[in-house]
Amino acid sequence: MKIPEIISRIPKGAVLVMHASFKACKDEGISPEEMLQMLMAQLGEEGTLMLPTFTYNYADIWAVKPYHTQETPGIENGILSETFRQMPVVLRSGNPTYSVAAWGKYAELLTKGSDDNAGLGHKSSYENANKLGAKILLFHVGNNRNSMLHYAEVASNIPYNDIPFRECWGREALTIAGRMKLNGEFPACSEEFSKFDDIFVKEGFAEKLGNSGFLIDSSSMVEYICKEISVTADIMLCKDFTCEPCTVRRQRLAQKGFLAKMRYR
Ligand SMILES: [Zn+2]
Repeated sequence: MKIPEIISRIPKGAVLVMHASFKACKDEGISPEEMLQMLMAQLGEEGTLMLPTFTYNYADIWAVKPYHTQETPGIENGILSETFRQMPVVLRSGNPTYSVAAWGKYAELLTKGSDDNAGLGHKSSYENANKLGAKILLFHVGNNRNSMLHYAEVASNIPYNDIPFRECWGREALTIAGRMKLNGEFPACSEEFSKFDDIFVKEGFAEKLGNSGFLIDSSSMVEYICKEISVTADIMLCKDFTCEPCTVRRQRLAQKGFLAKMRYR
């Protein structure tokens, strides 16, 4: 599916959270700037666009530089995110680990109205976007790039979100104002999330955009994940035994009896 057709599927006035890889469509003759302008035109005056500009400025990462809202480039969020972040009409949050850039009706609420120490959990830009009835566009990426799924883990109250991604990264972030205590909800591995690509479509709250991605209703998805986690506590964790965050989380679930309980259900 080509860029104009994908954009035409987005409802006018939506709060759109986009995770994107531009590489696959760089031969379409549309620049990242042009695609972003097409998106804004489709969303219209009542619409909002939010992209991740994550920087992972955890304080104990070796040689980490302090996060500066205006200047710190995102890490591996893609060319669309980097282009969007630098547009004069776009705001960025002061979250030193999982910042977002936003444009449109709710841009201020999603950036300045969220807690900077909130990661992807409670009072984060992602929670606010979900509350606003967001749609999620996965553009040439799958659900392993869908960060709202980490918010869903927090929303489910599964007792492993307090475990940092890497213990050695610490529980604080570094900003130009100094160390910032994070709120204790840490997102981790996303590898397992790819299995949801087909499931979400089958469940009826995601639309498959040819081979070019997915358009997902956020609140239905979060509700679905919360329900699934209540049945299968480790459903979001990958099975790679060398994956530190998933292994430690699964150990926690086992200690708390969450895995044994399920086995006998
Ligand atoms: Zn993992």
